[in-house]
Amino acid sequence: MEKTWDQLEELQPTVLKMLKNSLLKNRVAHAYLFEGMRGTGKKEVGLLLTKALFCESLIEGYKPCETCNNCRRIQSGNHPDVHIVEPDGLSIKVDQIRSLQTEFSKKGVESLKKVYLISHADKMSVSASNSLLKFLEEPNPGTVAFLLTEQLQQLLPTILSRCQILTFKPLAPKVMMKQLVENGVAPVKAPLLAQLTNNLDEALKLNVDEWFAQAQKIVVKLYEVLKKNPLEAMVMLQSDWFSHFKEKEQIHRGLDLLLLIFKDLLYIQLDKQEQMVFIEEDERLRQFALQTSGRRISDQMSAILEAKRKLQANMNPQLMMEQLVLKLQEGSSFV
Ligand SMILES: [Zn+2]
Repeated sequence: MEKTWDQLEELQPTVLKMLKNSLLKNRVAHAYLFEGMRGTGKKEVGLLLTKALFCESLIEGYKPCETCNNCRRIQSGNHPDVHIVEPDGLSIKVDQIRSLQTEFSKKGVESLKKVYLISHADKMSVSASNSLLKFLEEPNPGTVAFLLTEQLQQLLPTILSRCQILTFKPLAPKVMMKQLVENGVAPVKAPLLAQLTNNLDEALKLNVDEWFAQAQKIVVKLYEVLKKNPLEAMVMLQSDWFSHFKEKEQIHRGLDLLLLIFKDLLYIQLDKQEQMVFIEEDERLRQFALQTSGRRISDQMSAILEAKRKLQANMNPQLMMEQLVLKLQEGSSFV
């Protein structure tokens, strides 16, 4: 679904402000390179600016109206002077760039303006890159190029040097949640994923990852056992934890999840339930939150952060976890 200027400005304020100034001052560059993770709005912004260049009745001098003939044809991919290149299979082939050049050697069909947008520009083959480079070196007046990439470092430096590079920032958790739900993630799962990563691809992978699903269960169980019986927690480390959280990265993930449980407890106590991420554990966590204090939760969170630091400093993970479990139980009123 298309997003309006205002919606995209919410997503990428810096980029949109810059583009707005270029439009108002009539200083649109010949070539832009949009770089940033998937889902950050690169293509939508490219299309938006394209509409702004062709729109028949701009709003406030820079926002496309979204309703005129040109705006609508660009949105539906039917404008004769707007060309979009996507990878053909795994790569963008030299023929694709050549046919673009042939097309652009002619005058615009309807005006002097022409726009091309290359999605996943990092997937250009070497010969395609070289071909594009020549094109960028001799820009036709009235031609605007948008190159889009998630992997800036894969592009030739000579190409980079001919583009105005705009960086698209990772999404804020709230925006991320919305995107996740739009990509089919259950609304109860989105907040946790959005909290753990701001990379849409990574979040979508986690969402269907068996290891991650199991990891959540083990972490909740550890918290529960911690409250019930300190000895049992040590046993649980042996029976469940160590066999699941093996690699350093996995252990960090486990500790992050544990940290988020305590954070949720704090949110419940502060009456900020809308900030919770373990929504599926909502009922149990509410019960737990009644039986502890904010002060204690903060101490426990510090202990987890300390454990993460020790892990980073290469402390033995087994020892680190055992110390952490003892720390988390310290001063417990349930023992
Ligand atoms: Zn328009």
